[in-house]
Amino acid sequence: MPTPVDPAAFARSQRLAFDGHNLHIGSSSVVHAVDWLPWVDDHKLPAPACRQGFAGHGAQGELRPTRHPVSCRRCRRLRGLEGPTSTQAEELTLW
Ligand SMILES: [Zn+2]
Repeated sequence: MPTPVDPAAFARSQRLAFDGHNLHIGSSSVVHAVDWLPWVDDHKLPAPACRQGFAGHGAQGELRPTRHPVSCRRCRRLRGLEGPTSTQAEELTLW
């Protein structure tokens, strides 16, 4: 795939889209935590924290930001989120 014309603008748009979010890869419903990987000129791009492979670097929509809690088991472990998802934990506290 072609390199974006303006790396700075692309990196900024990715930061705006993914900062504070989690992500889906492609059409998968699995939610991964976001990690920021070094790219060109000191810019960083979002990637799954578990390093699950995906094509390209997000410019063509391979990665989709989401507000859903992380469901990928490897990402949860990497983020110290071992155990039930946050929504399940909230339900458990009711009892
Ligand atoms: Zn993951």
